Amino acid sequence: MSNTEDSPFILVCNDDGIFAPGIKALAEVASEFGEVEIVAPDRQQSAVGHAITVSTPLRSRSFEIDNRFHGQAVTGTPADSVKLAHDKLLDKKPDLVVSGINHGSNAGINILYSGTVSAATEGTILGYPSIAISCTDYDENADLSGVKEASRRVIRYVLENGLAPGITLNLNAPSGPLKGIKWARQANSRYVEEFEGRVDPNNRPYYWISGRLELLEHGDSIDINVLKEGYAALTPIQYDLTAYTMLEGVEGDDL
Ligand code: MN
Repeated sequence: MSNTEDSPFILVCNDDGIFAPGIKALAEVASEFGEVEIVAPDRQQSAVGHAITVSTPLRSRSFEIDNRFHGQAVTGTPADSVKLAHDKLLDKKPDLVVSGINHGSNAGINILYSGTVSAATEGTILGYPSIAISCTDYDENADLSGVKEASRRVIRYVLENGLAPGITLNLNAPSGPLKGIKWARQANSRYVEEFEGRVDPNNRPYYWISGRLELLEHGDSIDINVLKEGYAALTPIQYDLTAYTMLEGVEGDDL
């Protein structure tokens, strides 16, 4: 899977679109380690989860970003972008896939809805060590210096140690300087939805979703609390959704 050259080849993706400030920040960090190629959606694709495009064709367009990075903008989702990069757009296989830096938290249940995490998960499915990276600050002008430093440390860690098959790393960090990185697990949390109803010019109702994240547990080792303490949180996640705790207890049951 690795390249014959010594310098690693890193694929950079995101879900905020190829022109978001966060993806450029991540490409800058990745370029400290090796060659970078950006392949990402051509527009904002946050919260599309692991969606793929099956009913319309996908197109890609090449861009030079800041006269520094070569990028390809894809008319699809984050997962589409990584799949298309792997199968058609890259002329060699990446040593690492990084997704982000997302503008907004992907801790707790956000992991499930996140396009940023799904781009990294797709990298894992395709057999590449993959990292999703998010800043808890939704402001696109937020200070990403600490997230960049956390990204640098985690990229170095993965390039040196590798990553077990089937496992993706999910890194979240606050804006501002880095206080440190702590291993954490996904917080048990959910959204309490608050739909705001309005009426369109044809008198038909429509709704804006505006959920509030509710924490269903407490403890120092959960990602949301690690972030509240001001640290970056690093969580190993997996796409195998089997509930092993149930399966092990029911395998002898008659059906
Ligand atoms: Mn996003």
